[in-house]
Amino acid sequence: MEFIRDYADWFYLIGAVLFILTLRGLSGPKTAIAGNRYGMIAMAIAVLTTFFVADHPVIWMIVGAMILGAIIGIARARTVPMTQMPETVALMHSLVGLAAVLIAIAAIIHNNKLVELGPELLAANGVSFHEMSKVHLFELFVGCFVGAITFTASVFAYGKLAAKKWAKTISGGWVKPVQALIFIAMLGFGIHFFLSGSMTSFWAMTALALAFGWVWIAPVGGGDMPVVVSLLNSFSGWAAAGIGFTLENNMLIVAGSLVGSSGAILSYIMCKAMNRSIINVLFGGAMGGAAAPTAGAGEQVQRNYRSGSADDAGFLMSNADSVVIVPGYGMAQGRAQNAVKELANLLKEQGVTVRFAIHPVAGRMPGHMNVLLAEADVPYEDILEMDEINSDFPATDVVLVIGANDVVNPAAKDDPNSPIYGMPILEAHKARTIMVIKRSMATGYAGLDNDLFYNDKTMMVFGDAKKVVEDMTKAINGTGH
Ligand code: NDP
Repeated sequence: MEFIRDYADWFYLIGAVLFILTLRGLSGPKTAIAGNRYGMIAMAIAVLTTFFVADHPVIWMIVGAMILGAIIGIARARTVPMTQMPETVALMHSLVGLAAVLIAIAAIIHNNKLVELGPELLAANGVSFHEMSKVHLFELFVGCFVGAITFTASVFAYGKLAAKKWAKTISGGWVKPVQALIFIAMLGFGIHFFLSGSMTSFWAMTALALAFGWVWIAPVGGGDMPVVVSLLNSFSGWAAAGIGFTLENNMLIVAGSLVGSSGAILSYIMCKAMNRSIINVLFGGAMGGAAAPTAGAGEQVQRNYRSGSADDAGFLMSNADSVVIVPGYGMAQGRAQNAVKELANLLKEQGVTVRFAIHPVAGRMPGHMNVLLAEADVPYEDILEMDEINSDFPATDVVLVIGANDVVNPAAKDDPNSPIYGMPILEAHKARTIMVIKRSMATGYAGLDNDLFYNDKTMMVFGDAKKVVEDMTKAINGTGH
């Protein structure tokens, strides 16, 4: 054990390098499993080293907490369905925020206790003590309020994503002034605590930060929650890094900064792919306006479209040279991924080149389509990102759009008045033939009509994604109706 204490910095350094390798590994599906393993090893090193370097640890408490945490974590990881991943992640961020707040409270109470005992008594008992510096106080103040905001905001995001009754979206002219008031009061008390060390101000700041987290996120629309969760992920990282400075724990500083910066980058990528600004996502609802439009908000004008049966579609695809499948939220909603994989395999057996085109914000969470296709064992080399596939659409015989809508809406390129103008899309409209599986002509997440559905080259195949895809497979197999 002495050995671990003596070389703690080296262990932390190894852990930090492993965390960096984790992020690198997680950047691609092929390396993601290795990335996860690096993360697990790094976390084990971090926990064990911290355990052994602690002064006078209360062993039963630490071991008890570790066992309890491990049991809850393993049970949750084994049972959580893929569709509940976003809310699970939100809940985990809330714990990081809560940990930051509790550590800040513990550090301040500990410091106050030592001041109370006085340097003489401490010295007589062999305890060396330096009063907390202003820099540490500042780190605590920031770590505590960022943690508190992260905690309640994440709990709300969890409730919203899990459709809990208590997570009610709030709206109205009063929201923004109340947010501003709470924020200013929180900062005021925080600054007073920083300057005077007043515990009353510290408690007031923490309570207001908890309240702010809630009223800040409560006006955000449900569909924007994934971006919020990603941003809260970033916040939880910064809160942890702030506390890492207080505890003088290099590992926590490095890991917190990695989480903070990667969460911020992901939020930026998501906003860019949705053509939204982060300010619009976070304050759109409270500004009483431009939060995400909801489904059904688009103008309903009667227009002509062509529709066909699953049999027709199956016949066309089996006679094509190349098929590109564009999955969207409807594939997830209809749990059609395994049926889609079977269809792709069958087409391949018949000599058709089949590939999948993935838009960065298809579905309702980052990597949603990749996760579902990986779950169905679709080979990684068949899955292409938007930038890789877009130039291939003009030479593609058939594009099969399965429950996707906004991510293939040409208005994003052609209509400067469209709310999604400027959002990069999968250019399915350029293919020779387009087939779209969905249940109706209803709009998608952005609430907009889609010209692709009325294109002369498009055939709508109405029905639930899984059922239609299964029918297509039967038709190609010759076992259909
Ligand atoms: P959309 O929400 O635009 O469209 C999905 C379509 O699927 C709907 O039009 C719906 O039509 C159809 N559908 C739903 N259920 C089924 C079913 N069981 N079977 C067949 N069809 C079905 O999805 P996209 O994936 O194209 O776009 C994602 C949208 O979500 C974008 O606007 C993006 O900005 C937004 N978003 C994405 C996030 C992310 O991280 N990925 C986060 C937050 C928002 P019908 O009802 O007629 O069947």
